[in-house]
Amino acid sequence: MAEMLRESPYPMVSIAEATATIMAHTRPLASEEIETFSALGRVLAGDITSPEDIPDVPKSAMDGYALRAADGLAPRRVVGELTAGGFAEVMLAPGEATRIMTGAPLPPGADAMIPVELTTERDGLLYIQRELQPGDYVHVVGQDVRRGQTVLTTGTTIGAAEIGILATLGITRIPVYRQPRVAILATGDEVVEPGSPRPAGAVRDSNRYALMAAVREAGGIPVSLGIARDDRDVQRQAILHGLDQADVLITSGGVSMGTRDLIKPLLAELGTVHFGRIAFKPGKPTTFATIGGKLVFGLPGYPVSSLVSFEVFVRPALRALQGDASPFRPQIEVTLAEPIRPSPDRPEYQRIIVRYQAGRFTAVTTGSQSSSRLLSLRGANGLLLVPAGDTVYPAGSTLPALLTGPLIV
Ligand code: AMP
Ligand code: MG
Repeated sequence: MAEMLRESPYPMVSIAEATATIMAHTRPLASEEIETFSALGRVLAGDITSPEDIPDVPKSAMDGYALRAADGLAPRRVVGELTAGGFAEVMLAPGEATRIMTGAPLPPGADAMIPVELTTERDGLLYIQRELQPGDYVHVVGQDVRRGQTVLTTGTTIGAAEIGILATLGITRIPVYRQPRVAILATGDEVVEPGSPRPAGAVRDSNRYALMAAVREAGGIPVSLGIARDDRDVQRQAILHGLDQADVLITSGGVSMGTRDLIKPLLAELGTVHFGRIAFKPGKPTTFATIGGKLVFGLPGYPVSSLVSFEVFVRPALRALQGDASPFRPQIEVTLAEPIRPSPDRPEYQRIIVRYQAGRFTAVTTGSQSSSRLLSLRGANGLLLVPAGDTVYPAGSTLPALLTGPLIV
């Protein structure tokens, strides 16, 4: 029977060191060209410059009359009507005006327009209430977008506005970074499929399913590797199989100090373990390795540790692999609505509900912060960064927090 180690051979690294190490091994994946209209959530792999001026011809900014500013306040003869989509064939002569609708190209000869509210029309003559300057109420060429202008930059995540901009410019295919394929392996003799009968004492595999969802939310493509027994060869095969078909491998469980915690030695044998312990709660045994240039994250088995470690260490890497120019969650200052007790020995990321109230961010925790209590993640939209220490932070004090979900009021 294997000896139980009394002390981890892995030095304890700080959260900042762990993050820096991971990011130093993370480069954007290759790019591919895809259809603009299915690019929601993808990250641009090249700058987009406008191939044309928008608008491409001078257009009326309002409903009214196109005319020549130089005619001053003199009444004009009204000669026809222009609607959006139409084009004037004849030149507007001095002393003439034409009815024009919003978005219609200005007729040649006209250099301004006047909104209908500032006019009266009687017996085919237009009377205007104020004098105009050339260009008044005209949407000039290139006013919204100039030809050659950079409209979107590399590293931008495509949302509804970006899709609209690309559609405006007629750009129907765009370069984006490839989405990382992320293989996920659950380990543990006690772990069973959520849909199968559960022997007494066994636990259902929540980690793999939660992590697959988290991978998808981060823009990755999850690949399930199932559950591996706590057997060296079984886990070794599963890891190799995962690396064969993915850019990133995540394992759950098997990274602690027990005799059946086999992941760390396996990763060390197959590649390089960059760290195996972080001064971080929940998730001290979180491990990071590279095998043949691929990233491997050994996450702890406790459901909260697994998901919080994913959020803090894996998610930024998945965003960076996709070329996201800002792969980290925003950090804000929150005011505690209740006292917070720190962990004496490690910085702790407590799950909180952040609200924006009366001009500031307030935070309450989600209740007991035990690593086995998955309910401590329910409804959380933030992680409170609590430094290690012995003194309770009273209600009303402020601490930094990561915003991990939409703000609520
Ligand atoms: P380990 O890190 O392998 O020692 O696992 C620690 C504890 O996490 C186990 O005793 C289980 O209760 C729990 N656990 C491990 N794997 C999973 C999983 N895939 N889903 C839910 N809980 C798990
Ligand atoms: Mg285990």
